[in-house]
Amino acid sequence: MTVQIEVQPFSHGFDCEENETILSAALRQGLLLRYGCKNGGCGTCKIKLIDGDIESDTRNSFTLTPDEVEDDWFLPCITQAMDDCVVDVSQMELTEEEFLSGDTSLEFETEVAVNEPMTPDIRRLRLRIKNPDGMEFTAGQFANIQIPGTDLLRPYSMANASRERNMLEFGIKVLPGGVFSDVLSKDLRVGDKLVVHGPYGDLRIRSSHRNIIMIAGGSGLAPLLSMLHHLADKGNIRPVQLFFGARTLDDLYYLEDIQSIQEEMPCLEFIPVLSESWPEDWAGATGMVTDVVKEMLPSLNNYDAYMCGPPPMIDAAIPILGELGVRPRNIYFDAFVPSASAA
Ligand SMILES: Cc1cc2nc3c(=O)[nH]c(=O)nc-3n(C[C@H](O)[C@H](O)[C@H](O)COP(=O)(O)OP(=O)(O)OC[C@H]3O[C@@H](n4cnc5c(N)ncnc54)[C@H](O)[C@@H]3O)c2cc1C
Repeated sequence: MTVQIEVQPFSHGFDCEENETILSAALRQGLLLRYGCKNGGCGTCKIKLIDGDIESDTRNSFTLTPDEVEDDWFLPCITQAMDDCVVDVSQMELTEEEFLSGDTSLEFETEVAVNEPMTPDIRRLRLRIKNPDGMEFTAGQFANIQIPGTDLLRPYSMANASRERNMLEFGIKVLPGGVFSDVLSKDLRVGDKLVVHGPYGDLRIRSSHRNIIMIAGGSGLAPLLSMLHHLADKGNIRPVQLFFGARTLDDLYYLEDIQSIQEEMPCLEFIPVLSESWPEDWAGATGMVTDVVKEMLPSLNNYDAYMCGPPPMIDAAIPILGELGVRPRNIYFDAFVPSASAA
């Protein structure tokens, strides 16, 4: 059965087939809804249902809060229409021209420049962009890497400075049994070709006069590092505190990069937090990164917060940041949802 989706504020409609997501239907008909990971993990495509009936996979509690679900917000990338629907896309801040012009994200041919371990389970992947010439991305955004020989896409955040136009660097956690993880850790060699789509996502540094707290867990350091490069490039003087939660000393990485950013931007304080085990002479913080934030910064009244990492860390940190005084609208994050488990 084909149903009609009416899109407000543009009063424009499109068809949606049975078993087709609302996002796929819009893109197929040359209309743009902003999107990212296409599997419910990033929240970029969040829009509101005004009328009609939908069936949505809402397992990603960190992408949509229970209040948002209650309030009829949904993710068209993982939602099918059961009946004619009216949706409101105002939240996406699209002009009518952008909406009618369709998807303008690009496909890039790239070549592997570096594929090496940084920790026991995180690899540095650097891709040289061959065609078209360079990706214009904003620090904090991500790209979808196409798994060779398949149509499968995996989202990864850029870790490098956006000024490095012809290079994309990723810090990728190798997940046991993960499809791209296997390719990355076993097969991918320097010189191999990879197709990358992007850029996507709206995680980026917002201009404000407030201090900045950043919280990273595991491979979540990648986009925050790119954002730190951006702040240093802009001569930032807002105090920035970067908390990085890792299990052991061996799981810390990008330390030299952080140190060289600190030399350029002395207002950056780096607080690594080890949760599982640490050497006797470890003078740094230990425990859960969120507990250390609470101990060190009992009031975050004048802060913007940026976070990236595994969904449980984001889920734990959001209420704590709220209790400490960060306004919900000043909390920005990407939860690194594994694709296969989100689909
Ligand atoms: C916006 C965004 C940005 C991201 N950026 C980064 C980044 O910079 N670095 C990074 O490391 N990660 C990042 N991620 C997460 C990353 O995309 C996933 O970890 C990645 O998709 C894993 O791909 P894979 O093919 O290796 O594993 P997948 O094949 O997707 O499998 C992932 C895990 O799920 C398990 N699994 C497989 N099938 C199922 C199933 N049916 N049900 C439940 N579990 C299953 C697998 O065993 C494996 O452990 C990001 C995610 C998002 C949404």
